[in-house]
Amino acid sequence: SNFSSPRDGVVISRFGKSADVEDSTGNIYRCSIRRTLPSLVTGDKVVWRESLEPNTNGVIEAVHPRHSELVRPDFYDGVKPVAANVDQIVIISAVLPELSLNIIDRYLVACEATEIRPIIVLNKIDLLNDAERENIESQLAIYTKIGYQVLYVSCQHQQGIAVLQDILQGKISILVGQSGVGKSSIINLLLPHQSQSAMTGDISEISGLGQHTTTSSRLYHLPNGGDIIDSPGIREFGLWHLEPQQVISGFKEFNNYLGGCHFRDCNHFDTPGCLLQKAVQDGEIAQSRLDNYHRILQSMQEVKAKTNKS
Ligand code: GDP
Repeated sequence: SNFSSPRDGVVISRFGKSADVEDSTGNIYRCSIRRTLPSLVTGDKVVWRESLEPNTNGVIEAVHPRHSELVRPDFYDGVKPVAANVDQIVIISAVLPELSLNIIDRYLVACEATEIRPIIVLNKIDLLNDAERENIESQLAIYTKIGYQVLYVSCQHQQGIAVLQDILQGKISILVGQSGVGKSSIINLLLPHQSQSAMTGDISEISGLGQHTTTSSRLYHLPNGGDIIDSPGIREFGLWHLEPQQVISGFKEFNNYLGGCHFRDCNHFDTPGCLLQKAVQDGEIAQSRLDNYHRILQSMQEVKAKTNKS
């Protein structure tokens, strides 16, 4: 067969049965995928061979083990991987529409289950006066206290963006958050050199292999090094594939208190002698965290009940 010797590369995007692979010099090659390989996703490190015949595809022959995997619940398959080798998940929230600690906690649980480092970003701080800012900072202080990094940014005033750029440098990150919090605005600031066609996953100009519009995820290089994996589907990810045990593990500061509860099956809600409830009373654990733990469990049970019925 007419292929070069094997080379290393990174999958920057998937298109059905083929994938775009970037080599170490930044050239992008559309490749077919050996049928024996597991499903490849953006971020996968692969071994591939370049086709030596013009206008034909290269071929991906092997994939390196993933150090992390982001999955999305899939109606048929349970969960489906959507990105590989992500180092950090940037959880974007904003003061408008509203700051929701419950949503932040949901994302944190999902992050803890993947063992990918979360970073909390609060956007639109330009909308706050001093008193409001102080109030918000005291709400988010519960996260710095338990070891998460919290950043305050404004796309409007380009505030805090340089700090975010520093954190993203040299890492593969994804940005998640509810619609309207400012993810697109932040990504546009981070990737100013990306043309609109690149943002929509159209690489026809680079490869000359025709137009491919896609909603699959794609890897983008940051100007100062490091990458962002982005796609509409990846920006919000769900929880219902998690087990209750993973939900409580996702509240990492609970860990120290769980062993001491009097009952093995303590509900941490109204069981007398529950050490988690005591920790909340003593101000060691934030009330909102215990409340959100119960809310997340409850909403997962509701979703499970619904899917079991249908
Ligand atoms: P996405 O849905 O998360 O991608 O959010 P967008 O980036 O589309 O932003 C939603 C809205 O918030 C738009 O009207 C933006 O102009 C606005 N927005 C984004 N960042 C800021 C900010 O820092 N300050 C203010 N005041 N508005 C912002």
